[in-house]
Amino acid sequence: LLVLHHIATDGWSAPVLARDLTEAYAARQAGNAPAWSELPVQYSDYTLWQREVLGSEDDPDSPASRQLAHWKQALAELPEELALPTDRPRPAAASHRGDAVPFHLPAELHAGLARLAGENRASLFMVVQAAWATLLSRLGAGEDIPVGTPIAGRTDEALDDLVGFFVNTLVLRTDLSGNPAFTELVDRVRETSLAAHAHQDVPFERLVEVLNPTRSLARHPLFQTMLMWNNNDDRVAAEAAGGFSGLTAQTLPLGTRAAKYDLTLALKEAYAEDGTAAGLHGHLEFAADLFDRSTAESFVERFTRVLRTVVAAPGTPVADVDVMAPVERERLLSEWNDSGRDVPDATLARLFADRVAVSPEACALVFGDLAYSYGELNARANRLAHWLIEQGAGPERLVAVVLPRSPDLLVALLAVLKSGAGYVPVDPEFPEERIAHILEDAAPVLTLTGELLGGLDLSAYGFKDPAPAGVSGGNTAYVIYTSGSTGRPKGVSVSQGALVNFLTAMQDRFALTGGDRFVAVTTVGFDIAGLELFLPLLHGARVVLAPRDVVRDPVALVSLVRACGATLMQATPSLWQAMSEAGGVPEGLRVLVGGEALPASLARALAGGGRAVTNLYGPTETTIWSTAAEVTASGDVTIGGPIANTRLYVLDSGLRPVPVGVAGELYIAGAGLARGYHRRSGLSAERFVADPYGAAGTRMYRTGDLVRRTSAGDLEYIGRTDFQVKVRGFRIELGEIENAVLGHPDVGRAAVVVREDAPGDKRIVAYV
Ligand code: AMP
Ligand code: MG
Repeated sequence: LLVLHHIATDGWSAPVLARDLTEAYAARQAGNAPAWSELPVQYSDYTLWQREVLGSEDDPDSPASRQLAHWKQALAELPEELALPTDRPRPAAASHRGDAVPFHLPAELHAGLARLAGENRASLFMVVQAAWATLLSRLGAGEDIPVGTPIAGRTDEALDDLVGFFVNTLVLRTDLSGNPAFTELVDRVRETSLAAHAHQDVPFERLVEVLNPTRSLARHPLFQTMLMWNNNDDRVAAEAAGGFSGLTAQTLPLGTRAAKYDLTLALKEAYAEDGTAAGLHGHLEFAADLFDRSTAESFVERFTRVLRTVVAAPGTPVADVDVMAPVERERLLSEWNDSGRDVPDATLARLFADRVAVSPEACALVFGDLAYSYGELNARANRLAHWLIEQGAGPERLVAVVLPRSPDLLVALLAVLKSGAGYVPVDPEFPEERIAHILEDAAPVLTLTGELLGGLDLSAYGFKDPAPAGVSGGNTAYVIYTSGSTGRPKGVSVSQGALVNFLTAMQDRFALTGGDRFVAVTTVGFDIAGLELFLPLLHGARVVLAPRDVVRDPVALVSLVRACGATLMQATPSLWQAMSEAGGVPEGLRVLVGGEALPASLARALAGGGRAVTNLYGPTETTIWSTAAEVTASGDVTIGGPIANTRLYVLDSGLRPVPVGVAGELYIAGAGLARGYHRRSGLSAERFVADPYGAAGTRMYRTGDLVRRTSAGDLEYIGRTDFQVKVRGFRIELGEIENAVLGHPDVGRAAVVVREDAPGDKRIVAYV
């Protein structure tokens, strides 16, 4: 057994060694010593020569200096790490465990690629490199794709017969910016490739030292995928085949189960006797730390699709090269969006009135010592509604509600809906400026304040349901103001139909009955309060309205939840975290969490003990929540799939669907879409755009959220596309900061100041 360390040998050496071995074998069989001819040079000669030829790096005119200067420029601002659609996060240190997927490309594809190369004055390797970079780019790796490749390094014939380590590694940077046609990309590849080969003598290890990228045990420096031509095996086989007389010799691939890089694509050409292309044999080696075998197989399949596309249509712009099979596209766009469901064609006011008729005596609302039955709550709301109608409230009119957390608040919201108008909820604790801005922008026909309500005598008004004319699903149910990336708070106008669709979808999932008690904790300034207040009231359940001071005190909230026999509660991860630290979330409580990314640790804590936990996701612009996922104790957090009559698209910047596992921006279409931003048609047109995958005339909402699909079809939330800053390579999400400054009308795009007290201990010290 002869084992060679790579430090002493390389791929080129293998057939040389095989030949020496067969010669020796034949000679010994004949009873002679092998008559190898003397080598012209030895490895040590080569090392001396290399030093001499490259010269000193201190001499600016030496080849070493000139070559390094070339690489400094060619690799300036190279992305530190290629974003690949991995199955798992990259571990802090690579294990180098790996495996390989073998594949074969048929003769006709081989011939097509060779033709494409010839027509574009390129080598087959260059065409393959361009296709590989195209694939990686389509898989979310961006437009600047470095690929490593080994180069024989035997630039002198005198080295041909020498066994030794001559191989060097070149970094081939592939520029896909501006969405070039594939043929233009091949031109670019040719130019960088020729320049790289003209500067191939600087050892890669030296280059890394000089360029000094951030070093990490987690990944290879400068590039993480390699492309190589593997023609040595055949030469070994040829040497060995007839070389051992009396023996049959064969080369066998020895799977190393190792991966030097994230992905290595190795190809070998086969030719028929007459010299025609007979196919390409390849294998894709993958790092098991990052990829499952099935994912590596999908890369091979996609790569083949890219090759076929560019052979058939070489002028295709690279961003239009489709890496998905039709069935996959169908799954992404249709199957996983198959959320159609009938929804009652009625307003919330109508559905509530129906419910009141079923059980007027049942308890509808509890607030401290106060309790209202369905009949009582309804009568109060009706009286106020009659008065509101008299004041001019009605369909397509708005009524602002600026009331403290109290039963009157719920009465007022219901009354506005009963009048046919839309409500504009304003938390009276918002900063004055924000309130002023909202009231001015919304231009309501009336603003309900505590003062106004306190002075009203409604005894003269009827307690029967009003029947405002002409209210339909298309009318506005509420306008809620959100801050955001785009400057002033903007009013999101949500229709009656969208609200009823949402509540129907939530009932499908949570199946409330008369026995349920829903603890409402969220300020009405936040749209999700709509779920807490309205869902119970459509199903005979009870709203337990948590007073303001209780909401602010997790200990008090925990006791309220226990004391009232709560069965459901909805809150942000931050509030759930505070509650679980303050004494715990009761076992039987159904947990609804959303509004921010759910940390895995909290997911585990909440779902432990058999609690039913649902992670809910959605922007105000698509009506409260648009996706839902059941959270398991495993801690694998997703935001799940679409709620009823909702379609989710994960798209790239050209609005093309991205494959499973690839990050893209989430777009939402369907019944939950808001009418738009109140009196901001320009902004509405920017965010609510034509849905290229829906029926003619339908719209979709651009969320600004970065997500990716799991292979099961669920969405994983990655972060915001806009509120991200990079401070020395450290990513900060501004979602939380956004919430902190929600109260300020002047806050638009935020900037943060980060202080690093100790390495890795970074904290936000200011935001602007
Ligand atoms: P808003 O429009 O104020 O309701 O904020 C919506 C944004 O909050 C979304 O676009 C997400 O960025 C974030 N968000 C809401 N729910 C979740 C969730 N369950 N997981 C992660 N992010 C969420
Ligand atoms: Mg929301």
